[in-house]
Amino acid sequence: MPRYEFRCRACGDTFEVNRPMAQAGEPASCPQGHADTVKLLSTVAVTGRGGGVTGGASAPSGGGCCGGGCGC
Ligand SMILES: [Zn+2]
Repeated sequence: MPRYEFRCRACGDTFEVNRPMAQAGEPASCPQGHADTVKLLSTVAVTGRGGGVTGGASAPSGGGCCGGGCGC
């Protein structure tokens, strides 16, 4: 799930929120409960990278469905 960073303009705190991309533009309240926040640059690449390309390289061969036990 994408992670978005917000900064509170009331207390100056920065915090991160994990939320679906569909809700990326919605306002977030800071941990202290202030609603006056601004969204900073997102770090979507963090979660987008772990999906499949690099994961397949490190996975054991034949381990797709059963780890090689059935020979498929
Ligand atoms: Zn705040």
